[in-house]
Amino acid sequence: MTEKTLDAALMRGLIKRDRGAETVGLGEVTRPTPGPDEVLIEVYATGICGTDLHICDDEFPSIPPVVMGHEVTGRVVAAGAGAENWVGKRVSPETYFYTCDRCHACLAGRRNLCPTRKSIGSHVNGGFASHVVVPQRNLHQVHESVGEHAGALYEPLSCVAQCLCDPAVASPGDTALVVGPGAMGILTAQVLKSQGAEVAISGTPGDARRLEIAESLGLTPVLAGDLESVIPGVGFDVVADASGNEKGIDAGLRAIRKGGHYVQVGLTGKPISVDIDLICLKELVVTSGFASTPRSWHRVEKLIASGAVVLDPLVTDVSPLSAWKTSFARTRKADGLKLMLDPRMDA
Ligand SMILES: [Zn+2]
Ligand SMILES: [Zn+2]
Repeated sequence: MTEKTLDAALMRGLIKRDRGAETVGLGEVTRPTPGPDEVLIEVYATGICGTDLHICDDEFPSIPPVVMGHEVTGRVVAAGAGAENWVGKRVSPETYFYTCDRCHACLAGRRNLCPTRKSIGSHVNGGFASHVVVPQRNLHQVHESVGEHAGALYEPLSCVAQCLCDPAVASPGDTALVVGPGAMGILTAQVLKSQGAEVAISGTPGDARRLEIAESLGLTPVLAGDLESVIPGVGFDVVADASGNEKGIDAGLRAIRKGGHYVQVGLTGKPISVDIDLICLKELVVTSGFASTPRSWHRVEKLIASGAVVLDPLVTDVSPLSAWKTSFARTRKADGLKLMLDPRMDA
């Protein structure tokens, strides 16, 4: 069915219909209208993220039926009362549709940890559709230097900033290793570089194209099998895992120096087995971050405006919603870097 034959009140979206495997597919949902302090975004692109794969596999919580997609960019085309100033602006939204604003986490500015948080793409309808409604307080204007599709990378960059900034993980002159050259890894590496570190990024032979992109951004690519040859004498000052892979995490914990700073950026999706004694024996500082906060989005705006982080080279593929299956399968195989769906291509 094409968009043209749809009822004007309906739109097509990529929906997680139910719990269990094989419950994701294209379907029709009501085209949303913005309430007070909400806006309607015409979606230009929504990124496919590891979290979307975890949602498909029931490894990340969701409330089906729900339109998936949380890495969104587009233009505000309608607004409810009080949000009219946003109409016409190119934006990327924070992912929380609802937080209580009363709990301990909310009051501390950590909406990402609110127990009653409802996010787009998992709890309420998200960006794999022609339109999405979000609260105006979630909006960030996309910088003019960023391409139409690459604006969807504001969200993953905000998650990276949540892991690495406030306070900065690296100091000028540090050596850093990022494990995993996916989009999160390359964003992580760029942020560590902006903090003054010299950054190596490791991947497998299958990551050749990703490592090439990393190299073009001033990062030092290395194959996981050759990691030994690039470990500084005492080990890396900073190691960040963006692979969520048991072997990668293990290699990272071994490559870090005593007293170093280890950051877990990637999700594994399931319990894994690693030698946690290394944390004690090396007296490691271990930190992480979950999703994003208004503060980490503020960092994103600065990182983009200053040119410290670039997004466009990460977008390797843009497809219509109708090609979602292929794009999801390719993301699962780590084929390409950042794959996105642009619902305008379905029209
Ligand atoms: Zn994501
Ligand atoms: Zn709360």
